[in-house]
Amino acid sequence: MRVVVVPKEIKEIAGVLEKAGFEAYLVGGCVRDLLIGKKPKDWDVATNARPEEIQKLFSDSVYENQFGTVGVKTESSDSTLKVIEVTTYRIEGKYTDKRHPDEVKFAKTIEEDLGRRDFTINAFAKDLLKKGEVIDLYDGQKDLENKIIRTVGDPKKRFCEDALRLLRAIRFASELGFEIEKNTLEAIQECAGSIEAIAKERIRDEFAKLIMSDGAARGIILLEDVGLLKYIIPELREGIGCSQNKHHIYTVFDHNVRALNYAVEKKYPFEIRLASLFHDIAKPKTKAGDGPDSTFYNHEIVGAKITLKILDRLRFSKEIIEKVTHLVRCHLFYYNVGEVTEAGVRRFLNRVGPENVPDLIKVREADRIGSGVPKAVPYKIRHLLFMIEKVKSDPIHPKMLVLRGDDIMKILNIPAGPKIGQILSILLEEVLDDPKKNNREYLEFRAKELNLFSEKDLIAQSKKAKEKKEEFEGGIENEMKKKYYVR
Ligand code: ATP
Ligand code: MG
Repeated sequence: MRVVVVPKEIKEIAGVLEKAGFEAYLVGGCVRDLLIGKKPKDWDVATNARPEEIQKLFSDSVYENQFGTVGVKTESSDSTLKVIEVTTYRIEGKYTDKRHPDEVKFAKTIEEDLGRRDFTINAFAKDLLKKGEVIDLYDGQKDLENKIIRTVGDPKKRFCEDALRLLRAIRFASELGFEIEKNTLEAIQECAGSIEAIAKERIRDEFAKLIMSDGAARGIILLEDVGLLKYIIPELREGIGCSQNKHHIYTVFDHNVRALNYAVEKKYPFEIRLASLFHDIAKPKTKAGDGPDSTFYNHEIVGAKITLKILDRLRFSKEIIEKVTHLVRCHLFYYNVGEVTEAGVRRFLNRVGPENVPDLIKVREADRIGSGVPKAVPYKIRHLLFMIEKVKSDPIHPKMLVLRGDDIMKILNIPAGPKIGQILSILLEEVLDDPKKNNREYLEFRAKELNLFSEKDLIAQSKKAKEKKEEFEGGIENEMKKKYYVR
């Protein structure tokens, strides 16, 4: 086991508190992590000093909440040590709404403070002033050894006080690879519906930690087993028992979870893990027919919409929502050596965005491995990358045309408006087909020619150009139909 030592920044803070006559303990998750030889994500100090007393002792500190937590800034370059949370001992008052104590009460002793903590393995305190002894009032060390998640006190009561603990139990089980003790597990099953009372932001943060944990795939299955998935991501449940076609051996749910598991094994970032979990989420909704020849036409388009709805509901950031949704939308690309032309690869880049290609390929890999019967072979992906390299400097975006909107306005002597956009999109489609057309002489000639058309005709033409793009995607679908029975 790795030995993690208490950093000097923490010892210094404890020293200042002691000199002023106060107590100082490390508490919560960081003590648990020290005991199992893991580097803590953050360090929490508990003290009998009141928030205003803490602030007086540390000039560089902030107190912006009502929970007794003062953020003490340090000069450490380690991100986990930049701000140390120093919190006054607390006991929590009565809970009437399953999420907030009616009042926050400061306590006098560390023992009282430990009693309000959620799980035995989170209820340790490590003395920072004497011999570094660990206070363990609830046999948390035994549970750590036996790898067990157990609430401090009566599980039902504790889950009723704060229903986020339901999700935290699953998150810790996934993170640590622990089992949930029987009474705790039964109480979770019984109280699962209470999670609905919890603010979406708090659910989001725990769910994100679950997805980033090594046991994320097991975590999703646990959520389902205890009845929590229904309240968090019911859309995933539609895949349970939903069989696929002759090219798959797993149900949609199992496949999604296995794809996530691959992304976790590869330590891929959050967005790729989510896109892997959600990539086939719309297959149950789009399934046509049954048995070996069933099809899932448009599941990537519907799936992107469902993904957006889920992530928006869970209050994820715009950046995360856009990225994950885009990866789900694009996951079903067709590539076969010798079949897809350079123009096809340019259209692929136009649709996906070159900056998203590496991530999309990771999702594709997760999809492939998660299917249990890997289809596309990696050499195809290598060939696609080779083709991308080949067309790399070709124009694939309106901004890459030698004529821009401003130029066209000048050349045609017309004002800004939808007509410019229509002409530009027609020009881009032509250039995607043949990059040699991206020269001033041709584009000028063509713009003038297009200008002769009525607005109505232009709309029709630009629509046709767009359809061509879709037709290309449709072409992918046709190929898919032949090869993968996805129609
Ligand atoms: P992590 O490694 O993810 O930081 P952690 O155990 O430190 O895990 P935090 O969310 O940082 O978890 O909380 C710190 C400590 O505060 C916990 O270990 C636990 O003792 C206590 N705690 C946090 N949330 C709750 C809660 N909802 N109910 C009871 N105690 C809680
Ligand atoms: Mg923590």
